[in-house]
Amino acid sequence: FSKQFSLRWIRELSSENTVFEKQTDYNSLQLPKNKCMATYIWIDGTGENVRSKTRTMDSIPTNPKELPIWSYDGSSTYQSLGSNSDTYLLPVAVYNDPFTKGDHKLVMCDTYKYDKTPTDSNKRFCCMKALAQVKDVVPWFGIEQEYALMDLDNRPFGWPKQGFPAPQGPFYCAVGANKVIGRAIVEAHYRACLYAGLTISGTNAEVLLSQWEYQIGPCEGVGAADELWMSRYILHRVAEDFGVVVSLDPKPVEGNWNGSGAHVNFSTKAMREDGGIKEIEKAIEKLSKHHMRHIEAYDPKGGKDNERRLTGRHETSDIYTFSAGVANRGASVRIPRGVAEDGKGYLEDRRPSSNCDPYSVLDVMVRTCLLCE
Ligand code: ADP
Ligand code: MN
Ligand code: MN
Ligand code: MN
Ligand code: MN
Repeated sequence: FSKQFSLRWIRELSSENTVFEKQTDYNSLQLPKNKCMATYIWIDGTGENVRSKTRTMDSIPTNPKELPIWSYDGSSTYQSLGSNSDTYLLPVAVYNDPFTKGDHKLVMCDTYKYDKTPTDSNKRFCCMKALAQVKDVVPWFGIEQEYALMDLDNRPFGWPKQGFPAPQGPFYCAVGANKVIGRAIVEAHYRACLYAGLTISGTNAEVLLSQWEYQIGPCEGVGAADELWMSRYILHRVAEDFGVVVSLDPKPVEGNWNGSGAHVNFSTKAMREDGGIKEIEKAIEKLSKHHMRHIEAYDPKGGKDNERRLTGRHETSDIYTFSAGVANRGASVRIPRGVAEDGKGYLEDRRPSSNCDPYSVLDVMVRTCLLCE
């Protein structure tokens, strides 16, 4: 679709149509041996958008330590003043690049100011400090990323230009041209994530027409957050190829329409072992005592974004009240039915918003449940 679209656009602009069409197959160009395009990716000053730029390496890196520290203009990403703008990129994880393929790489980075201290949007730094103290309990995280596909006018992709689609009900996990929109994008993203080496564990159509979900994990420790950021980058890039925009806004359409969340599933070794439900209940007890601290960490605006989503309706809890329950999708924290039956497994925190920074979520989760801070 996108290729046809851009070719049509080129044709309209050019009188030498056939020449243009023949020249669009740049992917088959033979590149010099051992050259690697490494695309560095980082979170900008908004705490929710990603940026990237690419450099050539003379060897094929497989480990972040093999990649040099780089820098960028932080004054153009809301991360520094123009008079002192060089901001550092520190590679933390390397994945295969599904766009350039071959030996080319996507590189997740965290960011540091001119004086080598973490930038304000570098939540990974603090998260790593918490995780370093709990290595022996082997924390696992699995994150469910919901999002909406939007057109360039910021309306859900495929919605009628005037008015609204039918009320919610038929769209969740649906099939059919009148019930789902954008499946080609979703499947391209799924494949691209697998190619990259991410632990993507599934996907489904969501309750709002044009809204989708995929899951990352379970991964040990910070890997879940690194992978989630990389999967978001890949999603934005895939959608870009289709001329469609990804919205991670927790309430993409106001009114009687579902919002988007990023449920975070969490377990320790003890929770996964027989009788682990006791440990899960202990963690929930601790979570119940720090509700507002968690709400502040669960979206990039200290709870303001989630105010629009956590209304107590549309499969959410109320933002001001902590609640927990087995199989309860209206609770802050849910124990999945299967976990209650097995007496072991994990808990699901349903509060994080779709645009949350997973580093902040993991950080506060570990500090409350494991470090008892
Ligand atoms: P639902 O929509 O019913 O809440 P999903 O299947 O969408 O559930 O997501 C379940 C999530 O739980 C996945 O991201 C998965 O990786 C994660 N998960 C499964 N087992 C564990 C575990 N032991 N610890 C942490 N996360 C887990
Ligand atoms: Mn320049
Ligand atoms: Mn889910
Ligand atoms: Mn969902
Ligand atoms: Mn869920």
